Amino acid sequence: MRESAGSAAGWCHWPQPVRGERKSLMAVLIDGSQGEGGGQILRSSLSLSLLTGQPFRMVNIRAKRRKPGLLRQHLTAVLAAAKISGAEVLGASIGSGMLDFKPGKVVPGEYAFAVGTAGSATLVLQTILPPLLTAGAPSQLKLEGGTHNPFAPPFDFLVKAFLPLINRMGPRVCATLVRPGFYPAGGGEFHVSITPADRLAPLHLGSRGAIAAKRAVARVAALPRTIAQRELAVIAHKLRLDPDALAVEELTNSAGPGNVVIVEVECEHVTEVFTGFGEKHVPAEDVARQAAAEAREYLAADVAVGPRLADQLLLPLALAGSGSFTTLPLSLHALTNIGVLRQFMNVETKVEQIEKKVFRVSVERKA
Ligand code: ATP
Repeated sequence: MRESAGSAAGWCHWPQPVRGERKSLMAVLIDGSQGEGGGQILRSSLSLSLLTGQPFRMVNIRAKRRKPGLLRQHLTAVLAAAKISGAEVLGASIGSGMLDFKPGKVVPGEYAFAVGTAGSATLVLQTILPPLLTAGAPSQLKLEGGTHNPFAPPFDFLVKAFLPLINRMGPRVCATLVRPGFYPAGGGEFHVSITPADRLAPLHLGSRGAIAAKRAVARVAALPRTIAQRELAVIAHKLRLDPDALAVEELTNSAGPGNVVIVEVECEHVTEVFTGFGEKHVPAEDVARQAAAEAREYLAADVAVGPRLADQLLLPLALAGSGSFTTLPLSLHALTNIGVLRQFMNVETKVEQIEKKVFRVSVERKA
């Protein structure tokens, strides 16, 4: 039985390949328990499979997480990757610890994907964006789910930090927020338009350049404004921001309550974004302190990108054929991503320590 991209079924046998229909390639075996052992291994494998045409089998999916296997967000990413490429998929069901994925040709176009819970919709985009960047024709995506989730890129990070760097590599990607989605209500929506490039240009980010501006915004949805004000008071103190660099926003179009505080550091060559996510029983001051601490660590070291951009840039740089950046000590996410990249592509990734907290990462794709 062939599982269609829109359904979720259990294990079954591969259909007999029709001669000439698909390249017969050995499946790459990915162990989902390696390194970080979380959802990133799955998303990178899906993107790389779509880009290289190589099928993969993944075992031990998210083995190091408290609830291992595919959650709604990961399943949506699998089904989205399958949908845009007409892939054959086995094991795409909630809780599944194994997946077989055999991609077809990536077809750009109009697509809509809904996580169906507050799970991160930005991580669904992270999965399917790389192959659409060079897909030969434009795409329009509608994504629904969480837009501001802990442990995932918030929409603001996408728009201010990540996508400007992707656009510098040649494609034109624009994202528009229709409605924010916070945990646990979800219900967020954003749209993305992608004008691809023939190929991605290499990107070298040796330094961030001069700091042009530091600002912070605290947002509340169906929560007291004072939460945002308390967060900004901490941020202003820790990062020495003037009152005109601070903004409180009260959101009226969210499906449920939520709170984020976002610190933006705009530099000559790059913009970095650090986020604190409000949580029940966590004082607003603690939420802000965590975002401020991340921003201060970045500001104290003379690096171009922080740990999140570092793990997310590896794949686009490999696609471009080469690229480099300076960053803070690499996260386990980044190290794991380097390992997954190597399983699909002949890529050499060098990590050199320049100073105590400054590293240079360079990516070079071999023929
Ligand atoms: P799980 O760990 O439950 O499997 P997951 O599928 O959400 O979770 P992870 O493997 O933890 O995925 O990957 C999370 C991704 O989100 C990483 O690429 C990380 O850089 C990014 N990320 C997490 N927090 C932020 C943040 N505050 N800003 C930008 N990016 C973030």
